[in-house]
Amino acid sequence: MSEVLRNDIFRFSSELPVQQGFYRLCKFKPENPQFYLPNLLVTETQLDSPLPAYFVDSVTSKVLFDSIDDGDIGIVNNGNMLRVILSRRANHNTVLVTERCNNGCLFCSQPPKTGNDDWLLNQSALAIASFSLNGVVGVSGGEPLLYGDDFLHFLDFLIENSPETALHVLTNGRKFADVRFTLRMKERSEKMRITFGIPLYSSRPSVHDYLVGSEGAFDETVRGLINAGNSGINIELRIIPTRANYNELDSIVEFAGRVFSNINQISLMGLESTGWARKNWSSIFIEHDIYSDNILSAVDSAYRSGIPLTIFNYPLCHLPERAWQFSTQSISDWKNYYPQECDTCTRKSSCAGYFSSSKGRFHQPPRPII
Ligand code: SF4
Repeated sequence: MSEVLRNDIFRFSSELPVQQGFYRLCKFKPENPQFYLPNLLVTETQLDSPLPAYFVDSVTSKVLFDSIDDGDIGIVNNGNMLRVILSRRANHNTVLVTERCNNGCLFCSQPPKTGNDDWLLNQSALAIASFSLNGVVGVSGGEPLLYGDDFLHFLDFLIENSPETALHVLTNGRKFADVRFTLRMKERSEKMRITFGIPLYSSRPSVHDYLVGSEGAFDETVRGLINAGNSGINIELRIIPTRANYNELDSIVEFAGRVFSNINQISLMGLESTGWARKNWSSIFIEHDIYSDNILSAVDSAYRSGIPLTIFNYPLCHLPERAWQFSTQSISDWKNYYPQECDTCTRKSSCAGYFSSSKGRFHQPPRPII
């Protein structure tokens, strides 16, 4: 891995191993009596007095202390390793609520597992409420909507306990094919700011189903998009260009513009070379330069459809110049890096840079813009 903008994993010392689990990270005495999660004191140096009762445990790490804000959320693993999952200093915050999924995308960054992990949904609800961010928290999987009614209860809890927090939920949208579920989701969406990021990889069922590894997925996702959009649920439509669909980007955008309602944004997303994408790289990845014209056609098609289009995860030097204005610094800081060559580039401050996982055959070399 290359050096990232913000480290999220830390090792620490403590007298005894800290119990595995989610914690509210404290640098000071907590003031709000409603914590939702146990309080873990983080200190720069070893404590020389007994631990106050409002902390369940303490860890000592100057690096961790300097890297967090009071009230950030962390997960402890293996007794002395902590991952900061919700950080006030992060450019994006996301919780993973399940690793189960009913798709098997060829480029899945979080390959699905089958075991019961319901506890992740419960702990994520407590983590978001404890973090209480006046901003957006991402919810990802796996497929979060596999929880069905339990996901609606998760939202009800957050509406009551974290009213300032908006959610961005990544879902394959198939659950919205169920009209009854969609109507119940609509009720929640009227009480909180919530957007669903739903991928559609083709306007042809065979191509979409091939890329998501599930026959019949296109049919359910399209019905889901229609139901959700017609209900007024906010949708971000996501497209990942691959070898299988790069030449129909404009068709997908036009299809979305003609068939669906309430698409607030279309996102063109560069592949992340992690998970199954690494395994399938040679059959799915296509050099960005090869389909520059297709990207511009998609931009034009979105303009004609009146839907804003944003480009995620592309280094500017691998996009046609006319597309630069649509590109955003999208990569989460804990996995975002800029190779040394970028230091001479005049566009670095507005460029998305690279995933830290992109090395060797996954890397397209930077071409500094002078
Ligand atoms: S050289 Fe680096 S900073 Fe410049 S556009 Fe390319 S990736 Fe971005």
